[in-house]
Amino acid sequence: MTRAKRQIAIVGGTFDPVHWGHLKPILEVANAFNFECIHLLPTCAPPHRQQPEVLNTHRLGMLDAATELDSRFVVNDWELRQGLPSRTLPTLKHFHTVSADATLYFIIGMDSLLNLPDWQHWQRLFDFAHFIVIPRPGYALADASDDVKDLLAARQCDSADMQTGSGKISIADTQPLDISATELRQQLRNHNERPELLPEPVWNYIREHNLYR
Ligand code: ATP
Repeated sequence: MTRAKRQIAIVGGTFDPVHWGHLKPILEVANAFNFECIHLLPTCAPPHRQQPEVLNTHRLGMLDAATELDSRFVVNDWELRQGLPSRTLPTLKHFHTVSADATLYFIIGMDSLLNLPDWQHWQRLFDFAHFIVIPRPGYALADASDDVKDLLAARQCDSADMQTGSGKISIADTQPLDISATELRQQLRNHNERPELLPEPVWNYIREHNLYR
């Protein structure tokens, strides 16, 4: 009898701060994909790009707070420990090595899918993981480049066909949430109450450490 493989989700982001736009859609798909755990990986920005507004310790602290929301969330500081601008290919290779018995799912927003051809070695990413794409207001497949359209024509499929292997893409049918970390930082500077799309434990951490003032 073949045993079902472990299903592991990976979500990279600046998480400055983490918000429901990241977390809610992931929880919506988590049962369908039977995720054993969901790794939340804060990324390191290249030196010439905009840096996160708060220290890495606080990005990790806010993610730690978010793990209260679901026991499958795990904070993973692997990219921060590399001390290099984050690249997805080494990250997926790392997971593939340390979780060789698992099926990996890399979760990205629709904005990231539309930009994917700008990522380094983007076509090799599919050797290591399946991709799940979360709809995001303001970003439509109709605006995709020919590269992205070709990619979907070759790789898009249903979640049921993604239990093993790698290289398939599923567009999730989740409720689009119109929120970004940039907007949230703005709201936190201008208001004293919890923005609706900021999870309560993350809000408590932000207040305790007086962030984004
Ligand atoms: P910023 O506004 O600072 O660019 P962000 O809110 O877009 O931040 P990131 O932490 O940079 O968030 O994004 C991490 C991942 O989460 C990316 O793949 C991004 O596409 C996805 N994502 C972020 N917000 C949403 C959202 N509202 N809906 C769907 N995907 C999202």
